[in-house]
Amino acid sequence: MSWKVLITARSFGMGDPWAKEALSRMGCLVEVVSRDVRFTEQSLMNALGDVDAIIVGSDPLSGKVIGAAPHLKVVSKHGTGVDNIDIAACSARGIVVTNVPGVNNESVADLTMGFIICLARSIIQADVSVRSGGWKRFIGIELSGKVLGLIGFGAIGRAVARRALAFGMKVKCYDPLLKNDDAHGVGVTPTTLEDVLQTADFVSLHVPLNDTTRGMLDGKRLCLMKPSAFLINTSRGEVLDEHALYEQLATGRLAGAALDVFTHEPPSGSPLLKLSNVICTPHYAAYTNEALSRMDKISVENVCAAIRGGKPEYVVNPEVYGGRD
Ligand code: NAD
Repeated sequence: MSWKVLITARSFGMGDPWAKEALSRMGCLVEVVSRDVRFTEQSLMNALGDVDAIIVGSDPLSGKVIGAAPHLKVVSKHGTGVDNIDIAACSARGIVVTNVPGVNNESVADLTMGFIICLARSIIQADVSVRSGGWKRFIGIELSGKVLGLIGFGAIGRAVARRALAFGMKVKCYDPLLKNDDAHGVGVTPTTLEDVLQTADFVSLHVPLNDTTRGMLDGKRLCLMKPSAFLINTSRGEVLDEHALYEQLATGRLAGAALDVFTHEPPSGSPLLKLSNVICTPHYAAYTNEALSRMDKISVENVCAAIRGGKPEYVVNPEVYGGRD
């Protein structure tokens, strides 16, 4: 029986235009949805009726959507974070969920470091000023000796730490699932969330969105940061309270922020867009030729492995295999 594979990830095919050929060679009927389409729950439900596997980006694969996909066997995430997928609903149906971990760490870390340098030296503001006829010399700060506080010390947090240490920064991290030796071994000091917020000159978020991280940077915690400090978020918008962040930035209780992710994307109408001390980018931290190409290849390989009856390399819900390797 040939599988129908629906590809809704808007980032798919930008890195490796030939990746989907592997599915066609396996006899799959492959449908790639136009990049202009933004799925709602309802339109996804309508699209998934005869689909066996989906390669998905950020579209909402809720329990309701999964319930409307009677043939679905594989959900292959074209990315790392799986917060848009109801994993429990998939597991209950025996649907395997896969992702592509560890393929975009370097790209996201590059952007994070770029944000840190732009914030420290007002590069965006200086560019805007010169283009509009100005010649204002913005006074910045050096990175050497400054403290970078990482919230979440997984693959991306570590890649950021390597870069920051090379710039002479002192790096601290908060990650409750970390063994202290893991951080000390690479020159990073593990500490509490409060200490990161109170002492860091730059705080950078690298946590997955889950029940422990949703809203973790609320107004009370943002108030712990130094007025001279900068916040960087490349994780997920919902990890912080955007209204409280706006208040802090607009009233000078926080020096600046760089945001690649937002609670609503695109963040049309957000007051954050009006602030000159905020850098906003379109959730594009993983958009490099190298990372996109790896994401294309591995997300397809994950589906191919399942079609062959094997276990894909990167399974998010191993319980569907009942402990089988
Ligand atoms: P990872 O799983 O390697 O690391 C996440 C780390 O967060 C882990 O070490 C974990 O222990 C820690 N963590 C979990 N709960 C925590 C909590 N409550 N407090 C502090 N730490 C906690 O993941 P990663 O590859 O480093 O990616 C991190 C996140 O970045 C992803 O889940 C995704 O949401 C986001 N991301 C965004 C982009 C983008 O385009 N902006 C690209 C890739 C990843």
